[in-house]
Amino acid sequence: MEESALAATVASCRALIDSRFPDGGDRGAAAMLLGDGTILTGTAPDAMNASVEVCHEIEPYCGAFRLNQRIVASVCLHRQAGGRTVVLSPCGVCRERLAVHGPGVLVAVADRSDLTLVVWKTLRDVLPDYWMTAFPDEIDAGWTV
Ligand SMILES: [Zn+2]
Repeated sequence: MEESALAATVASCRALIDSRFPDGGDRGAAAMLLGDGTILTGTAPDAMNASVEVCHEIEPYCGAFRLNQRIVASVCLHRQAGGRTVVLSPCGVCRERLAVHGPGVLVAVADRSDLTLVVWKTLRDVLPDYWMTAFPDEIDAGWTV
């Protein structure tokens, strides 16, 4: 994977946070790099009932499906009030969604010594015991061990 494409994906995520929320407040966004090089971004709307809110990844995830493109990489960032921006690894539900695109999808996780730095890992690395590996006849895309 081209480092510049990954860097552009992170930059697009940061740019969305800054353009959509110029007040500098506590906000986040996600960005995904698709197989054709397209970068899609998204952010989660507020809801009266927090239990119905969605992940920032939903918009680019659905966009990839709409465009019939595979997802190559996914990043989610959260800007804290004051401007520090930390990397959020994909939640369990988003990992499950991304698993459709295979174990080679790159996901951004935070560097353990500096939570503002992106470390790219494969989905296989963050899901070493993915449950579907128990059904090798039912899945493909390289998930089998
Ligand atoms: Zn999620």
